[in-house]
Amino acid sequence: MVDLGNGFGFDTHAVYNQPSAPTDYNLFESDSTIVNYLHGRGSGLDDLVGLGELLGKTQTIEAGRLANEHPPILRTHDRNGNRIDEVEFHPAWHSLMTLTIGEGVASYPDMADTRKDAHLKRAVGLYLVSQVEAGHGCPVSMTYAAVPTLRHSPELAEIWEPGFRSRNYDFGLKIPSSKAGLTCGMAMTEKQGGSDVRANTTTATLTASGTYRLLGHKWFCSAPMSDAFMTLAQSRNGLSCFLVPRVLEDGTLNGIRLQRLKDKVGNRSNASSEIELAGAVGHLVGEEGRGIKTILEMVGCCRLDSLIGAAAQMRQALVQALWFARRRSAFSSLLIEHDLMQNVLLDLILESEASSLMALRMAHATDQSGIDEGESDLRRIGIAISKFLVCKRAPTFVAEAMECLGGSGYVEESLTARLYREAPLNGIWEGAGNVNALDTLRAMHRQPSTVDALLSELSKSRGFINSYDGRLDELEARLVGLEVSEWNARQLVGRLGLLLQSHLMIENSMPELAAVFVESRLGESWGAPTIGCLPKIPESLRKGAIEAASLGL
Ligand SMILES: Cc1cc2nc3c(=O)[nH]c(=O)nc-3n(C[C@H](O)[C@H](O)[C@H](O)COP(=O)(O)OP(=O)(O)OC[C@H]3O[C@@H](n4cnc5c(N)ncnc54)[C@H](O)[C@@H]3O)c2cc1C
Repeated sequence: MVDLGNGFGFDTHAVYNQPSAPTDYNLFESDSTIVNYLHGRGSGLDDLVGLGELLGKTQTIEAGRLANEHPPILRTHDRNGNRIDEVEFHPAWHSLMTLTIGEGVASYPDMADTRKDAHLKRAVGLYLVSQVEAGHGCPVSMTYAAVPTLRHSPELAEIWEPGFRSRNYDFGLKIPSSKAGLTCGMAMTEKQGGSDVRANTTTATLTASGTYRLLGHKWFCSAPMSDAFMTLAQSRNGLSCFLVPRVLEDGTLNGIRLQRLKDKVGNRSNASSEIELAGAVGHLVGEEGRGIKTILEMVGCCRLDSLIGAAAQMRQALVQALWFARRRSAFSSLLIEHDLMQNVLLDLILESEASSLMALRMAHATDQSGIDEGESDLRRIGIAISKFLVCKRAPTFVAEAMECLGGSGYVEESLTARLYREAPLNGIWEGAGNVNALDTLRAMHRQPSTVDALLSELSKSRGFINSYDGRLDELEARLVGLEVSEWNARQLVGRLGLLLQSHLMIENSMPELAAVFVESRLGESWGAPTIGCLPKIPESLRKGAIEAASLGL
């Protein structure tokens, strides 16, 4: 076999000091944050050890690359001119879907299993597979998330739930009841409004058969090859949620027309489409006119997965940076031996650990939600806070990790390039940053018990580090009376996020490292958790400055 590492093929120079990419390592076992958290809960780890090993193999990492190098292709018609509205994928995509669905990552757990950390383990599964290939996490996540919404209509759940929870991946245009496994997408966003879905204009008209006919469009509909879509449309009683199958039980294609696939910055392996709903048959899910409330359960689960996905990106970017810095030399020493590089890497290690702990804690709260009201409240507010903070910080984190590889990090052959293009997405879909910050305020106002649950969680770490206690006092005082304006939402939610991360570090990390984390995030000055945390500025100055900067725009 040719040894490329010895500079095969060059007679002008030898190739050395060029580290290979990480391969043949166990993604699970090498991640002490995850291992220790599960170990501390007495959770069985065997399945995850096997998954971690499989994901670290060269061929699995290569499948992730191939699925992105060969993005999906839209096939609207067959050779005879019949509409087929199908998406064609590279075999690598199918192999990843088979693996991940087979591991149960798309399967919403049984209530009984939540006592055995089923959501938590499933979250770790998603965290691991996303590090190898993030795009296929989208249909996997939506299929998982669809189930609690579907359960609003038990008669529909009886038909569809076994397919959504199946561990079989069965791709293609087939009658749903004939398939060994089903996937589900979500269709809410329209051209005139995504965050504000009340602006939806797609209509749903009740027919004599009891089903509805949907007419309109969706501006973003990811995974359009799914077997069904949770879809919002206006019916006679207002915005309602519908399950819209892609193939009907008589074998005909439902009226969902794929217009085109989005040409995205990243997330290339995954198909995201624009669709028209041309009289598509839909089944009402939940109460008519209560569509937002019904679909919010799906959105909540997808938000948890965005948080997990962002933490996974950080972890994988860190793996790339550490691997490289341990093998690359500059100025006569390995990069990792340089003082300043250690400062950078250690900060990344702390940030990654705190973000992973947040994702784990929210997955654990999901397990407990059905049996413990406090945990349900913590989940409600905690996911909004955590998604906001971790998804906001992920792009900066990935850019910094990329820089650790120098120029080699900025070329497409490096996984850091793919991570970089993927990084902003979790902050945009399932509620962009402002929307999650405002959602946190909404939870505080409409459900004050969520504030109690958060404060009770944060109080568990009192008495260990003075600056933590001081910051907690400060925020507690601020939360009394809930006098928080929209202007300050990002600052407040960012700080709550930093406190939650600090608490989780105190609870789970090495005490010395937790102290460094707390000092650097909560110390002398809070600093700004993200952009958009300016102090109060008079309105005239605000408007004047924005106008001046927008001159001619
Ligand atoms: C790759 C990709 C795949 C997607 N897949 C799907 C899918 O499968 N199904 C689906 O339904 N959607 C999907 N989306 C759409 C996504 O959920 C929306 O883009 C997102 O919710 C934002 O909506 P919008 O694009 O209409 O932006 P807008 O709602 O116009 O928001 C623009 C900006 O304004 C901010 N903003 C909005 N309201 C306020 C406010 N009150 N105060 C302050 N700021 C505010 C937002 O935070 C955002 O930064 C996808 C998007 C992408 C990029």
